[in-house]
Amino acid sequence: MLRRRLDDELTLIRRPRFPAGFGASAHRYRVTVGIGGNLGDVVRRFERLLVFFRRDPRVDVAATAPILKNPPFGFAEQADFFNSVIVLRTSLQPRAFMRYLLRVERRFGRVRSFPNAPRTLDLDILFFDGRQVRLPDLTVPHPHWSERESVVIPLSLLSAGGRR
Ligand code: ADP
Ligand code: MG
Repeated sequence: MLRRRLDDELTLIRRPRFPAGFGASAHRYRVTVGIGGNLGDVVRRFERLLVFFRRDPRVDVAATAPILKNPPFGFAEQADFFNSVIVLRTSLQPRAFMRYLLRVERRFGRVRSFPNAPRTLDLDILFFDGRQVRLPDLTVPHPHWSERESVVIPLSLLSAGGRR
């Protein structure tokens, strides 16, 4: 595993599929998804997640970013987080796509306990094809994306195939 320390707290991790660019897609929308987790072998889980997405006809993977290891915020007495950003193409509408992501979280073992609690896999919609969405259970763009280095750093390092 290739690691580069950015400072005392932040480490960039590169794997064969993080970062990477993938092929073209016939799906209509381009969705930028933040992925995170801090329970168990998160890097391995991200790799399995990518295989899962690549096999699922409802989405195509366009690009991935490197993985950032970073300290937890909110509830601080827990393991460091691993975060990355992936660009998916889908023809699902935003709410259907959000429901889909919540099912994928559960499939990868996510159990909701309290806010900012340790988690196996968190999937957040950062951007959905330039759209704005304000629903009770879905806000896009994600309201906190620009304040979190766990998002901003991977986003800035997205593989060229995903930048468009
Ligand atoms: P967080 O990601 O802030 O740690 P959760 O993953 O537990 O919190 O998400 C809680 C709820 O946030 C989800 O049930 C989802 O409906 C809602 N939500 C609102 N906007 C978004 C978004 N852009 N991406 C992901 N979830 C969102
Ligand atoms: Mg979430």
